[in-house]
Amino acid sequence: MESSPRFNIPFLEIKRQYLNIKDEVGSALKRVFEDCAFSGGPYVEGFEKEFASFCGVRHAIGLSSGTDALHLAMRALGIKEGDEVIVPANTFIATAWGVSHAGGTPVFADCEPDTWNIDPEQVERKITGRTKAIIGVHLYGQPFDFDALKKVADRHGLKLVEDCAQAVGAKYKGKRVGGLGDIACHSFYPGKNLGAYGEAGGITTSVGEYDEMVRSLRNHGSKVKYYHDEIGFNMRMDGIHGAVLSVKLKYIDEWSEKRRAIAKRYLDGIKNPAIKTQKGIPSAESVYHLFVVTTEDRDALKEHLESRGISPGIHYPVPCHLQNAYRHLGYKTGDIPNAERLARTCLSLPMFPELTDKEADYVIDAVNDYR
Ligand SMILES: *Cc1c(COP(=O)(O)O)cnc(C)c1O
Repeated sequence: MESSPRFNIPFLEIKRQYLNIKDEVGSALKRVFEDCAFSGGPYVEGFEKEFASFCGVRHAIGLSSGTDALHLAMRALGIKEGDEVIVPANTFIATAWGVSHAGGTPVFADCEPDTWNIDPEQVERKITGRTKAIIGVHLYGQPFDFDALKKVADRHGLKLVEDCAQAVGAKYKGKRVGGLGDIACHSFYPGKNLGAYGEAGGITTSVGEYDEMVRSLRNHGSKVKYYHDEIGFNMRMDGIHGAVLSVKLKYIDEWSEKRRAIAKRYLDGIKNPAIKTQKGIPSAESVYHLFVVTTEDRDALKEHLESRGISPGIHYPVPCHLQNAYRHLGYKTGDIPNAERLARTCLSLPMFPELTDKEADYVIDAVNDYR
């Protein structure tokens, strides 16, 4: 018989972080309100400068969401109808949306069986005469092997885009993600490692031409007010998000350290032979947006943890190529086996910087007690 749970451990509780920084965030927000700098403006520009320097690039552009960042990155690269862009099958669907929104076709590639990141060999097999770019995703906060994918991209004259939505602050060979590829996309959705207080995203790049194009596209296709050079969008970042993100950027490395400490505790503590974890590559430093484990009977592990008061997540239950939205592309079950296996077996344990050691140990015990 299970006794009633000692803890209720949420998958993510962003309120704890808010309580730690609420005075600082409160005064930042007050400044935005008093200056009425609601859309774009000085607080967004301030964050853009800080974020560019954080990522080690020349330009950062604040946008309305990570999805919009992926869309505008595709437009900046000139992706249009008839073009193919290779993306991993195991990612949040928005990685593929960007390609579709620009009019292109996402082509899904499999992941490596152990790192769960995009497999450069599988990517190379999917390249056709129509392929224009590859989007690599630093999945769950763990950088993909950039140099290996870059070799494939260079061999075929393709652009390489980073989807950093889950990996702000992570490093590959000592360099921050977001500064590795031709152009990089970020999400500041509230649940991400660097979360705004609403919807927000951004692009980083050192290519001046991409910077100009994205700035114009996010602002109705205009550089000078009421003069429109192209059909644009309204995808500007709100002032309050710029202000909040400037406050939070100062803490991001500290928060990533805490995530790594929790991950280490999980990795050291979980001894259950039925459970596997994500393999890292030696040259990379993860920021553990998620701590994902796999096990054959995932639903049984999920129920077991829930009976102990722990709320796990599933990232993601259906790989992109099997989503109804992409039915017309004609993929079927069995086409992309590693991604499909991951979707069947993955479970995300609670992970956020404010999770206490006691809570992590409680999760570890519950995982070790399974079976
Ligand atoms: C969250 C996420 C996005 C989309 O970002 P939004 O800000 O929610 O639009 C894109 N790609 C990945 C990998 C994500 O996790």
